[in-house]
Parts: sequence; structure tokens; C-alpha cells
Amino acid sequence: MKELIKRAKKFLVGGVNSPVRSFLYVGGEPLIIKEGKGCRLIDVEDKEYLDYICSWGAIIHGHANEFIENKVAEALKKGNNFGLTTEIEIELAEMICNSIKSIEKIRFVNSGTEATMSAIRLARAYTKRDIIIKFEGCYHGHADHFLSKGGSGLATFDIPLSPGVPKEIVQNTITLPYNDIQNLEETFEKLKDKIACAIIEPIAGNMGVVLPDLDFLKRLRKLCRENGSLLIFDEVITGFRVSSNGAQGLFNIEPDITCLGKIIGGGFPIGAYGGKEEIMDMIAPLGPVYQAGTLAGNPIVMTAGKAALELITNFTYDYLNRLAEKLEKGIYDAANDSKIEILINRKGSMFSLFFSNKPVKNFNDVRNSKYDYYKKVFWYLLKKGILLPPSPFESMFLTTKHTDVEIERTIEVFYEAFSGLKNE
Ligand SMILES: *Cc1c(COP(=O)(O)O)cnc(C)c1O
Repeated sequence: MKELIKRAKKFLVGGVNSPVRSFLYVGGEPLIIKEGKGCRLIDVEDKEYLDYICSWGAIIHGHANEFIENKVAEALKKGNNFGLTTEIEIELAEMICNSIKSIEKIRFVNSGTEATMSAIRLARAYTKRDIIIKFEGCYHGHADHFLSKGGSGLATFDIPLSPGVPKEIVQNTITLPYNDIQNLEETFEKLKDKIACAIIEPIAGNMGVVLPDLDFLKRLRKLCRENGSLLIFDEVITGFRVSSNGAQGLFNIEPDITCLGKIIGGGFPIGAYGGKEEIMDMIAPLGPVYQAGTLAGNPIVMTAGKAALELITNFTYDYLNRLAEKLEKGIYDAANDSKIEILINRKGSMFSLFFSNKPVKNFNDVRNSKYDYYKKVFWYLLKKGILLPPSPFESMFLTTKHTDVEIERTIEVFYEAFSGLKNE
């Protein structure tokens, strides 16, 4: 592994193609994975890990799932991209539109980043306004206008978060705290008819899991409607993770545009955005809003996505929820046993562990939790063959290939890890 890491670092920036994989938040050497099977990953030294990263939520049926694999193998024999429409694109589009009621029409792209970027363009075009509202701690990919942070006061325009992002581009972005109704109301009051859209993860999964107050989400829906702004739900993680109608189905709140990704690609690169026909028809070729993709709707990806959605039944969510609940309870018991204060935020099979003695409801609360504890638990579990996300800001996920056996084993190791923290 050492040799490979050296080579990785020589030829790939930081040895990775996405920063979190470098283990920068937990320190130490990252893993190089050779293979995955079910709920396990195997590294290049043949060490096995019980996987709770699950491709950052994209994998819900386990690694190397046979059903998906067979469908993909068949599709591969027929050619991997034509640059013209295929039947499988229509099928996956139909499945998604039938599943998520607010999506009447959909456009497939190659990543979640592209989906949110294009959704914002569409919302701006539809409303003929420029200002977008996002929420602190939510992640919407790495397009320029999302790489910003709040300015000096409330309802002020953002400043770039990354060099390379011109300040003019984020001057139309406003970042507000998650779950804060008062700030939201003040911002809409001040800018009313200038706000094109608000984009939000209806269950935040990129600052760890942070659940929305239902009143907050409902207020956001109402304010957008009253002010002629569009509401965009970024369900790249939650779509088909928390229910087959996404978080919007669980909460019974309909956005105008929904962004999807991760699970709908069955482990292949994908993104999608969809919504009401009237809005979607503004996109080229029907409308003036330009957006295109050479490999968009790629038949191999579509095949994998369709297979992944076909494998989802109502039973899927009951099963995942039962296991996740058992794991949650087990981790709490383990923490109590060592008198360590923890908090688990969870919706179905997405959850995260905070070392905090109070509720974690926004990014400030996340920042105030103790990550040095997370780091220690991460390394202890890794040594025992259990892989948590290498960052307290990422969510943990289950697949349908996790079973009671793995959950019980994980709880056992949490007992040891917490007892180690207590005895420090
Ligand atoms: C992963 C993610 C994205 C970005 O998707 P990529 O495919 O990595 O570009 C956007 N939004 C949310 C909520 C995500 O979790």
C-alpha cells in the first residue's frame, strides 16, 4: 500500500480525485481499494473493511451487486455510448417521474454538480432574477456560485470560499443558517422580488446528517411561493435513500425543481434535475436555456440506474430502517456505558455521529462538536476492520447487504472504542 500511495501522490493531485478520500480530516494514510463485495471493501493488502461510506451514499444494494452487474455486462455488449437517444433513457426517466411526483420531466447529466449548476441556471432564467439563497453546511457540488460563504451580516452577499472564484459570481449568492426561520423571513422581506430560488438539502447530509425542522422547510416553501421564487431540493443523497419519493415524499413538501444523483446511477457517474413541465420546457432544445452533455444519458449508466431502482421495494426501506435503528440504539448504549456524550442524527439509513451534549441543528452546532473524538473512534474502528467516513462532516450509510451480524459486530467495536476514550 505504501508504494501505491507514493505513486498516487506523484501522479494524482494529493493522491486522489476527490479531496475527502485523502483522509485529510482524520490524518494518516488513506486506503487504496481493490475490490468491493456486498457491504465489504477489500484494500490492496487484502484487508477487509465493513463499509459505512457506501460510495458516499450512492451504493444502496451493496458492492458488485449481481443483478446490476449482469444488466451492465449485457448492455456493454451493445456498445457504450451512441450520442443519440436510447430506450433505456426513456425507461429510467419514466421510473423516476412515476416515483417522485413533483418531477414531470427530467434531464440527465453526468454528476450532481452539473445537476445543481444547471438547476440554478434554469431557475434564474425562469424567474428572470439573479439572486440565489443557499444554506450553510449544505453541499451542492463545486460550481462557482456555490463555493461561497456568508458575508459580514445577515442577508448580505457572499464572498468566495475558494481562490479562482470571482467575487462577482458569488455576489448573487446568499448563505443563510440552516433551520433558522427568522433569518429566512428577514432575507425574503429585504430582497423579495429579486430572489430567483432557494436551494437546500431537505435533509442535510454533507455536514454530517442534520435534520430539518419541518416548520422551517414549510416556511421556506411558502416564502418561495409567495415571492415568486423557485424552491430547489437537492436530493442527490436523499433521493431513493430515505424513500422512493425522496425527502419531499416523507415531508410532503413539493419543490419546483429536484436534483438527483448518486443512487439513481447504480454506482456509475450520474446527475439529474427535473420538475414541472412548464419550467423544464425552458431548457434547450424546447427553450432558450442552454445545457448539453456528450455522455449524458449514457446507456451503461442508465442500465445500472434502472437496475438499482428495480431492486428497490417498500421492503427495502423497512429493512434499512430496522438495521439503522438497531445500530443507533447500540451506539447510544455503548456511549452510555462509558459515559461519553454523543448524538446521532438519523433519517432511515443515513446517519451521523456527533460528540455533542446538545442537539445539532445547523453548521455551527456541527463545528462545536468534538471532532478529535470522532478521529479517535474512526481509527480504532478502522483497525478493527470497520470503515466510517473519514470525516465527521460526512454521513454514514447502510446497504441492503448489511445484516444483523455486521450491525452487532459494529456495536461491539463501538463499546471498545468508547471505553478507550473514557480511559484516556
Ligand atoms: C454528492 C452531492 C452533490 C455533488 O454530486 P457529484 O456527483 O459529486 O458532483 C451535490 N449535492 C449533494 C447533496 C450531494 O450529496
